[in-house]
Amino acid sequence: MHELSIAQSLVALAQQHLPADVSRVHAVTVRVGALAGVVGEALHFCYDLATEGTPLAGSSLRIEDVPLVIHCDGCGQDHQLAMPPVFRCPVCDVPCGDVRQGRELDLASIEYDTDEDAPP
Ligand SMILES: [Zn+2]
Repeated sequence: MHELSIAQSLVALAQQHLPADVSRVHAVTVRVGALAGVVGEALHFCYDLATEGTPLAGSSLRIEDVPLVIHCDGCGQDHQLAMPPVFRCPVCDVPCGDVRQGRELDLASIEYDTDEDAPP
């Protein structure tokens, strides 16, 4: 299941961004492109496994879907494609594989509290 290795690298990456005095992580947001080949449900499941025993345990994973966008030289425009994609310009009807967006698999943001935020 490749979602598990994705979840593990996201968790490792998120941990690098956490300050030393983090007290609780609420949520991690990832941007997942339509071409990233990630099943959201599986990633949620694997995230819970991957965060076990880390400062991110108990936090929730938010997935931001990024649609597939191609750029066509013929009409000079960007077009959003439906999945599964047919790599043709919907206007010019010519083959087009210039992907501008949709391969993302990025850590977008982390919501957390630090000890300083905690009430005295
Ligand atoms: Zn075109």
